[in-house]
Amino acid sequence: PAQDILLKVSGMESAYGRIKALKGISLEIARGETVALIGANGAGKTTFLRTLSGVQPMSAGKIEFDGKDISRLRADQRVARGICQSPEGRMVFGPLSIEDNLRLGAYTRKDQEIAADIDDIYGMFPILHTKRHLPAGSLSGGQQQMLAIGRALMGRPKLLLLDEPSMGLAPLLVEEIFNVIRMLKSKGMTILLVEQNAFGALGISDRAYVLEIGQITLTGTGQDLKENESVRAAYLGM
Ligand code: ATP
Repeated sequence: PAQDILLKVSGMESAYGRIKALKGISLEIARGETVALIGANGAGKTTFLRTLSGVQPMSAGKIEFDGKDISRLRADQRVARGICQSPEGRMVFGPLSIEDNLRLGAYTRKDQEIAADIDDIYGMFPILHTKRHLPAGSLSGGQQQMLAIGRALMGRPKLLLLDEPSMGLAPLLVEEIFNVIRMLKSKGMTILLVEQNAFGALGISDRAYVLEIGQITLTGTGQDLKENESVRAAYLGM
């Protein structure tokens, strides 16, 4: 096969009562790709992630993952299949230690390699090791974002979902988080990056989709979309 498709979403629809938030989304992610989903406030990015991870009902459409139809699986079953999310707003458990937050990311696992994986995460993010016994709430915004990504990695994802990882971070920290994403990509991780920071997201993604009021309106390589006139006007402030 020319491309090894890991995720294939076809015609996904989702609604809040009578409000159709997703009106037939179709997209694909190949193994090893970093794909960005960009769009304005309220376009449906969070709803897409919630529907993909199974916490929001899908009213029509199909989700195929790793060669299987997972449309009817519960959220925890999808995590166990390898779809793991770092949520918007980081959502670390403030009173718990950094290490306990990481352990929580392994809650669907039954294997004995959790301690070794925690060590791997500490290797990637030495600051988390230094502070491992401190409450997560004591970390800075950028460090909490690293912890949220680390926690998602503890689920041993085949597909890592990142919801607005740069949100609320100072420019230097945004660069640091994007470097983390580049590093994960170089290790072979498949990543779906949802961002309002379109410029940054397009810069580190192989391909991207533009979402507008519940529909995909454009798709292409990160570079193509960066050069696209309507993307530049609407999302890049140019
Ligand atoms: P943001 O960047 O602000 O998170 P988004 O692109 O993630 O925006 P969604 O949060 O998915 O967009 O919202 C998509 C649409 O669904 C919007 O019109 C929004 O008002 C609506 N919506 C989202 N959550 C609810 C809800 N709980 N009840 C009703 N409508 C909702």
